[in-house]
Amino acid sequence: MPEMPDAPLMLSVSGARGLVGRTMTPPVAARFAAAYGTYVKRARTIEAPTFCVGRDGRQSGAMLGAAAMAGLTGIGARVIDLGVVATPTVGVMIDRCDADAGLVLTASHNPKPWNGLKCLNGRGVAPPPGEAAAIIEMFRNDDIDWVEVDALRPIEDDPAGDATHIERVLRLVDRDAIARRGFRVVLDSINGAGCRSGRDLLTALGCTVVHLNGEPNGRFAHTPEPIEENLRDLCARVRAEGATVGFAQDPDADRLAVVDEQGRFIGEEYTLVLAALQRLRTLGPGVLAANLSTSRMIDDVAAQFPGCEVRRTAVGEANVAAAMPEDARIGGEGNGGVIVPDVCWVRDSLSSMAIVLALLAEAETPLSAVVDALPRYAMLKRKVDLADAGGRDAIDPALERLAAAYAGERVSTVDGVRIDVADGWVHVRPSNTEPILRIIAEANTVERAEALADEATGAAGL
Ligand code: MG
Repeated sequence: MPEMPDAPLMLSVSGARGLVGRTMTPPVAARFAAAYGTYVKRARTIEAPTFCVGRDGRQSGAMLGAAAMAGLTGIGARVIDLGVVATPTVGVMIDRCDADAGLVLTASHNPKPWNGLKCLNGRGVAPPPGEAAAIIEMFRNDDIDWVEVDALRPIEDDPAGDATHIERVLRLVDRDAIARRGFRVVLDSINGAGCRSGRDLLTALGCTVVHLNGEPNGRFAHTPEPIEENLRDLCARVRAEGATVGFAQDPDADRLAVVDEQGRFIGEEYTLVLAALQRLRTLGPGVLAANLSTSRMIDDVAAQFPGCEVRRTAVGEANVAAAMPEDARIGGEGNGGVIVPDVCWVRDSLSSMAIVLALLAEAETPLSAVVDALPRYAMLKRKVDLADAGGRDAIDPALERLAAAYAGERVSTVDGVRIDVADGWVHVRPSNTEPILRIIAEANTVERAEALADEATGAAGL
């Protein structure tokens, strides 16, 4: 994403995100955290709620983390500081510590100038849209219940996050069966929050780990989003090492992209599909959840297991998690984010790695063959700057034009507009976290996907 000096503070179901020193400053972090703390106090009627707080490794994390913890302390919360950990590790620790809520300082895959705050509730789930809106309202109105001096508590440190998270992930899979295969794995942790836990997990699974960008110092060695153009070094290294598989985490280690043994970037869409295949083989049919921008492959895999139900949701982890019952098999998004309820309700690159390795340990064939046996579609993802589209106010009328133009087809307006036709689909929606419009199309061929995206953009008048 280009640096946008005028980018606003983005407030959404995904939390708050902004440019450090401009829209994301210590006062903003403290006030947002305090507003969330106040929300939890009132909603749960607890005077001193317990919060687990973690942060990804980016440079601004210590500063904003200190501010956020000060904000929480100031409303009387008991704060457990987890330090630099993966976002899903905070989800795990909320459960382990029996905390009332959590807060993560992260801007996920956004480049270095960005940072943000992500809320998790007592179940370790991002709050659903209604609650997120209430928190934003309280932040905007400075509606905060500060406490007096005798109600302040010292901040506690808990360094057990990584070990606790890894222990849970190991319970998902047959550790010995994976270890017997002696896999060689190249892991690119982009010097992010998943460095230590990612390496330790793979080591515990008996893998030989070639670790790229494995220092959690927040100095991103390449553009962070785990997409093909940013992962060419990883692909080359997988080939050079003769590795079984390559994995790429994003800076807060919730998303995972996978590279096959030939060094082929198989696409972040496949992470959820591969994980779903393994979980359904292991657990049998059940409920799966995926957002509306996720490939049809998930429907095809589910169809192999009669009795499965795929629930489609608005984009955003909170929406996916909200659609998942306690016994859901798996949930996630086509951006490489997979939610495994047995571990936590947050997208988790660690669970994803373990499950993909379990799939490979069970398979008689290399990953490239597993992937080639799956149905294949062409998907394209475009971004349009809101400024180029006429600003945020121009978007709703454009979406209405789009929905009207396709009134005869299957149209969903749950999140932007998604149009399903017999041989493909296109989804147009404003991003929750960036000032852009996303256009995603999928069809049997690239040309058809391009045509669907072009037609939709034309119909919307964009
Ligand atoms: Mg992320």
